[in-house]
Amino acid sequence: TSSHFYVYTLYTKTRLGYMYYKRQMRKARENYPGGHSATDPVEFNGVKIIPISVLSDNYSYLIIDRASSIAVVVDPADPQIVQAVLEAEGVMLEAILCTHKHWDHSGGNKGLKRLHSSCRVYGNAADNIPGLTHPLSHNDSVTVGRMRFKALFTPGHTVGHMIYLLDGQTVGAPSSLFSGDLVFLSGCGRMFEGSATTMLSSLDTVGSLTDDTLLWPGHEYAEDNLLFAAEVEPHNTARENKYQWVLQQRGQKLCTCPSTIGEEKQYNPFLRSHSAELHLALGVQQFQEEDWTQFRARVLEELRKRKDLYNRR
Ligand SMILES: [Zn+2]
Repeated sequence: TSSHFYVYTLYTKTRLGYMYYKRQMRKARENYPGGHSATDPVEFNGVKIIPISVLSDNYSYLIIDRASSIAVVVDPADPQIVQAVLEAEGVMLEAILCTHKHWDHSGGNKGLKRLHSSCRVYGNAADNIPGLTHPLSHNDSVTVGRMRFKALFTPGHTVGHMIYLLDGQTVGAPSSLFSGDLVFLSGCGRMFEGSATTMLSSLDTVGSLTDDTLLWPGHEYAEDNLLFAAEVEPHNTARENKYQWVLQQRGQKLCTCPSTIGEEKQYNPFLRSHSAELHLALGVQQFQEEDWTQFRARVLEELRKRKDLYNRR
């Protein structure tokens, strides 16, 4: 893993990471002119959420308040593609919500800011987020038109990772979580900059949201993630059912989001550090007098190690 760490340092701390991202963006525009996956917008009483397929497996999300024709974008990795959607929808970009500093999430901030000079850029100050204008802390609110977001501090993948919860109540709809690289369908982000204890606390933040909350993650990793989940919870029928559905979707290159937090709690092993079947598969047992949270952090650490060996996503 020391070589992985070396590569990670090159990616985040030097110009090489930026060059790699630019190349990845060029190739993705060539290879997937219509995006890597076909996505469907959803609309609740005038608030529209459009998943935008960017790079080779990332999603940006455009959220529009129809009444005022203003929009917020989460993680606009490819500014050109996001700009095209803004123009097609005929809306003004008022804010960028950035989950973390990695280029495949933050790389479009400055380009979009140049096109929309009054656009605010939100994120956590602990991550070097390009173009950041409005640093956020845990539980801060961001209001744009009728859209109200709550920012939740969820370190572990990076030191300043944030997720954004769009309040559904104002429009009589379920809430929507934009989870960046913290949680994916049946997965979680790599723990580049935090311990298992830190990551567990961030995952518990997600686990505490209501079951009907829609999950909009930063990557299309569903198929791989559910295959991995089968290794550690082979008898989980919710996982098997979701996998069959995901296979159908991916067979037609269709987007697999949103799932819900309620669903994720049933099959996402990273939200199931309490599961006895998981403990058995990982060969991890609670020590006598070991604190339950400490034990679950050890489970998470072992689980993430297995996933890193399985595939580095
Ligand atoms: Zn990342």
